[in-house]
Amino acid sequence: MPQLRVAVAGAGIAGLTLALALHRAGIDCHLYEQAEHLTEVGAGVQVTPNAARLLHRLGLRERLRAVAVTPRAIEMRRWDDGGLLKRTELGDLCHRRFGAPYYAVHRAHLHDALLSHVPPEHVHLGARLTAVTQNTDAARLHLSDGTTVTADLAVGADGIRSVTRQHLAADRPRYSGQTIYRGLIPAARLPHLTADPRVRLWFGPGRHCVCYPVSAGRQVSFGATVPASDWGEESWSAPGDRAALAAAYQGWHPDVTRLIGAADTVSRWALYDRDNPGRLSAGRVAVIGDAAHPMLPFQAQGANQAVEDAVALAACLAGAGPGGLGAALHRYERVRLPRTTRIQRQSRANATTFHLADGAGQRRRDAAAQTSPGLEEHAWLFGYDAERAATSSRSRRWN
Ligand SMILES: Cc1cc2nc3c(=O)[nH]c(=O)nc-3n(C[C@H](O)[C@H](O)[C@H](O)COP(=O)(O)OP(=O)(O)OC[C@H]3O[C@@H](n4cnc5c(N)ncnc54)[C@H](O)[C@@H]3O)c2cc1C
Repeated sequence: MPQLRVAVAGAGIAGLTLALALHRAGIDCHLYEQAEHLTEVGAGVQVTPNAARLLHRLGLRERLRAVAVTPRAIEMRRWDDGGLLKRTELGDLCHRRFGAPYYAVHRAHLHDALLSHVPPEHVHLGARLTAVTQNTDAARLHLSDGTTVTADLAVGADGIRSVTRQHLAADRPRYSGQTIYRGLIPAARLPHLTADPRVRLWFGPGRHCVCYPVSAGRQVSFGATVPASDWGEESWSAPGDRAALAAAYQGWHPDVTRLIGAADTVSRWALYDRDNPGRLSAGRVAVIGDAAHPMLPFQAQGANQAVEDAVALAACLAGAGPGGLGAALHRYERVRLPRTTRIQRQSRANATTFHLADGAGQRRRDAAAQTSPGLEEHAWLFGYDAERAATSSRSRRWN
């Protein structure tokens, strides 16, 4: 059977995971990344069991164990007195229940771990995609240096401002009205936050703050949202003003103000998402990760869903060959759309729930939190096996 050739735009978490999964499936895959050097922003990412199990299967278990932290619990607290609203046990309980751990990891460490498993000759840097074209025989990536790459399938893993996505939808990124300050702090400055590792969140009117240890416990990553109605679309991130951040959290619990005060530098990001395009492929073009369904980070699932997409697409393509491409992409879309649509909606809904002003709505939220089933509440999310879902879809008839 002739071998399938796949060309991927973007070497972020989605693109690298796809390259690795396809490489392991024996499918030819090349990555085209606009950056001259691969560097990741200094911030943390929570890798939940639904993605951790897939990354383990791809050979990253030891690497992740070495660099990640396994938090014992997620704690949600009130903004002013720090009162506990909800505690979800993680640690060994989570690992046993879902067969994979919950990790907190520095983004650069996850990125490096993926990159180290992809053959370097398949990663092309300084290769900016300007357009994708296709006909019945092939897809073509047009790069800014004038060269063209021909493949059986073009995959857009080119993030929220995807060029590839233009084949699927004519929409634009949607500003959420929220910005987020992010930073990394040496753990020695905040020993009480690393000795008993937890994901800690504080909810308050119009904003929330989250932190967790990363880098094998050497650093604490934090994110603190601040609403802003006037963020222009031309710049997505900027150096943050520590004084402005401190002012935005004045009057919050000392654990929060001390955390913010311990950061030497912060960066500030505008938070955007996009509507789900309703499809994930068009002819010989497919999208994964943020190119497909960028979501607000209020459920910590963007990178996890990127990993799920990549592994599911690779499973659908495995054994397909060029002749089976259409059916394989159809399966990918049928498996991934319902799940990512649900998670994207939930992430938007959390933007409201997390930021309720003190009052009746907030009291209802907090009362509901007290009766939460804890870890079981996340069974649909953490217990899902994207590879198995994609593989079993092969034997299922779609109407
Ligand atoms: C504050 C914040 C916190 C978050 N926390 C979490 C979390 O805890 N857990 C979680 O799962 N997710 C989290 N996310 C979401 C997560 O970061 C993203 O969903 C994830 O990084 C998406 O990966 P991606 O590879 O699809 O896109 P990206 O990471 O955006 O990568 C896209 C790549 O494509 C390249 N590219 C772009 N355009 C072109 C082009 N034209 N030609 C060639 N290359 C191109 C880019 O340079 C980049 O390397 C968070 C996001 C934010 C903003």
